[in-house]
Parts: sequence; C-alpha cells; structure tokens
Amino acid sequence: NFSNVHELEGVLGKSSGVGESRILVFVRLRPMAKKEKEAGSRCCVRIVNRRDVYLTEFANDNDYLRLKRLRGRHFTFDASFPDTTSQQEVYSTTTAELVEAVLQGRNGSVFCYGATGAGKTYTMLGTLENPGVMVLAIKDLFSKVRQRSCDGNHVVHLSYLEVYNETVRDLLSPGRPLVLREDKQGIVAAGLTQYRAYSTDEVMALLQQGNRNRTTEPTRANETSSRSHAILQVVVQYRVRDGTMNVVNRVGKLSLIDLAGSERALATDQRTLRSLEGANINRSLLALSSCINALVEGKKHIPYRNSKLTQLLKDSLGGACNTVMIANISPSNLSFGETQNTLHWADRAKEIRTKQACEVNEEIQPMPESETDQAKLLLELQKENR
Ligand code: ADP
Ligand code: MG
Repeated sequence: NFSNVHELEGVLGKSSGVGESRILVFVRLRPMAKKEKEAGSRCCVRIVNRRDVYLTEFANDNDYLRLKRLRGRHFTFDASFPDTTSQQEVYSTTTAELVEAVLQGRNGSVFCYGATGAGKTYTMLGTLENPGVMVLAIKDLFSKVRQRSCDGNHVVHLSYLEVYNETVRDLLSPGRPLVLREDKQGIVAAGLTQYRAYSTDEVMALLQQGNRNRTTEPTRANETSSRSHAILQVVVQYRVRDGTMNVVNRVGKLSLIDLAGSERALATDQRTLRSLEGANINRSLLALSSCINALVEGKKHIPYRNSKLTQLLKDSLGGACNTVMIANISPSNLSFGETQNTLHWADRAKEIRTKQACEVNEEIQPMPESETDQAKLLLELQKENR
C-alpha cells in the first residue's frame, strides 16, 4: 500500500522554504483499453516502486538503467499509480488530507490532466460502481462532519461549473453563461448555484447529471467534449464558539478539476505557444501552460487574466492553497507522444511553488451581548444555510 505522502512530508505540500510549499504531483496509469488491444498496441509505460515511471518505446526495452539516462524517459513523482490501483487508493493518497484541511478552514485543489481518453473523468467522477475522487471526497467529508457534529455547525455547499470555449456555465442549473467577478474572496462566478448538500447519496446523482450537462462536440453527439473543463467546488462553513464564547466562522474551499484534453495544447516554449494560439485551440489550456511556465520561472507577473480557467484557478495555483495534480496516462505505445508530453508537464509542475496554506480562513465575531443577540445569530445562520 501507499504510505500517505502528505503525512510523510509532515505538512501539506512539501515545504520548500519559509511560507512556501510545492504542488504534489501524481501519475495514474489506466489499464489498456479493448480498442487499443485490438489495434495491436503494446504497453510502453512501466511503473516501478510506485514512484518511478519509465517510458519504453519498445516492448523489450526493460533496461531501466539505460532509460534513466535518456532524457524524457524516466520520471519520478510523489507517487505513481499502476493500472491496478483502486479509486479508493488514489483518493486516500492524493486528496484525503486536503479534505481534512478544508474542514479546518483551509483551501485545497486537485486537478486531473492528460490527453483525451487517458482517464481524467474516470479518476475525478468515476462510475456508479467505482466512484472517483469527487464522490469519495464528499463521502469522506460528510463522515468527518458527522464525527464532529458535537463541536460545531458545518454547512456544505456544492457548485459545479464548466469552462467551454471561454464561456463559464453552471452545470447544476444550465442556462445563460456566468460572468466572472472579482470580490474579497477572489474571483467568483456571479449567480452560480450553491447547492446545500446534506448527504452523499444525493451527490453522485447530482454530479452524474452535471456531467451530462457538459457541452458536447457537435460532431460527436453523446460524447462529452474533450475541450470542456469541469470544476467542482465544495465549500465548508464551520461555526463554533471558542474558549471566550466568541463565534468563530471558518470557511474552507476544495476545488476538484477535470481539465480538457491536453493533446496539442500544452506548449513548453514561447514559439510553439504562439503558433498554437493562432491555430484556435483551447485558450484556457494554453493560458494554463503560460501560467505554469511563469510560476516555474518565478516571474512577478503571472498571466491569470488570459483565460477564464486561469482566473478561476488563480487562488489554487498561486495563492495560499494546497494543490495536487494527477496526470493521467494511457499505457499504449500508440499514445507514446501524448504520454511523454503529459509526463513532461507533470515533471515541470513539481517546480511550482505556492504559498503555504497554513492560515485558516477565519473570522471571529465577539460574543453577543445578550440571549436575544444569540437568537438573532442563530436565525442568521439558518438563513445563510438555506
Ligand atoms: P478522459 O476523461 O481523460 O478523456 P476517461 O476517464 O473518459 O478519459 O477514460 C476513457 C475510458 O477509459 C473510459 O471508458 C473509462 O471508463 C476508462 N478508464 C479510464 N481510467 C480507468 C481505470 N483506472 N480503470 C478502468 N477503466 C478506466
Ligand atoms: Mg473526460
């Protein structure tokens, strides 16, 4: 079994200096698909020790020492999941600690990226029989809330949105596109549904429906678009009285992101970036790669404003947030180039430094003067929770 990486690191994210932490990066290999087998593909990925990933172009290329020396053929991550890894194992290694942190009023985000068909939606949403990270996170959250129900008042709200073609849509209540606004908390989508969730049971159905609301490509009816990004936001509000009977209001936000297919969209240098921009490919993914480049290079200016996706992810990438990336890859040699590209990006993402999310989003309200005020406060609480 995987040892819990976050526990090993001692703090969330690996500390890399004062007030800084880095993004934790994981790789998940999916099983070979029937179609790939039928097309005569061979497996070109080997995962060793649940950490090292080797890309072997030829089936008999088992000389790991040689591959280690070849640039772009050997990678190492916080953990690498072989194709036999269960959804639960992926969840507990990558996300469980973030859920714990969110309950304490910190922010966290997990995003899956990789080429179309590499297993992003399977990892994030999963199926009814094998629910993915989104569902397991919410299940875990509710079980933790139940355990703690005696020491406070937790309220859970869900929002599920899509960025498609630079348009933001509400997946829980499809309709007119949403406008992004900047407020005290950062960038928010005005009018986005905030669904008050009480239990896990309702959530799977809700998310499945939400996923069906994702934009489909006109030429590929029934198939979810490979160009749509889906973001699930789970906001946990927590009210408790501290030792002096002041009311402490904490808010933690967990963002779970199923990115659009990364094929052809992630460029490593400015020249390729510019030529891709001309070719009208996914602007949000391009902007994401520009932001990652700028963050890795330690630039002062990070171009978040270039796309809707990067605006929405601003506090996850550069703010005080515990961030996890899961790179999904196919084992087939037919996807060799895409896999190499994805691994390259995952490798680069290890260099991003984020501000450490040690601080808790907390607001302290002085003790109410009288019982009447307490009653008012309770009423206010109930109103907000509705
Ligand atoms: P993406 O969202 O990256 O385009 P999907 O998650 O839709 O890819 O995966 C493509 C196909 O592979 C789906 O049929 C999915 O059920 C299957 N699949 C992906 N990952 C796994 C896995 N770890 N185990 C079993 N099947 C998987
Ligand atoms: Mg998908």
